[in-house]
Amino acid sequence: MKFCDKDGGLLVPDKSGNKKLICINCGKKYPLAKEKVILKEEIKNKERVEVVDSDVEINPKIDIECPNCGHGKAFFWSLQTRAADEGETSFYKCTKCNHKWRKYD
Ligand SMILES: [Zn+2]
Ligand SMILES: [Zn+2]
Repeated sequence: MKFCDKDGGLLVPDKSGNKKLICINCGKKYPLAKEKVILKEEIKNKERVEVVDSDVEINPKIDIECPNCGHGKAFFWSLQTRAADEGETSFYKCTKCNHKWRKYD
């Protein structure tokens, strides 16, 4: 049970169906605690998606010719492949046409 922090009145669900609690004494409205938690999770998920989408753009740009459009700049990053003896695989993404390609060192 929850009570109003202003006058200690009992909080009941708002009958207008806006998912809020309302004080029976003064009518002050409070958001449901549950709703707050969901909102936080949504923000977290949104942030995660944005990070995944933009991870290529934080990589350094290097001078390399794009095999797709001939543009001279591309984002560069490298990943260790699963087999240790294969070494690193370099990835490039053209800053102009977003074409992606890879190169084995
Ligand atoms: Zn109240
Ligand atoms: Zn290109």
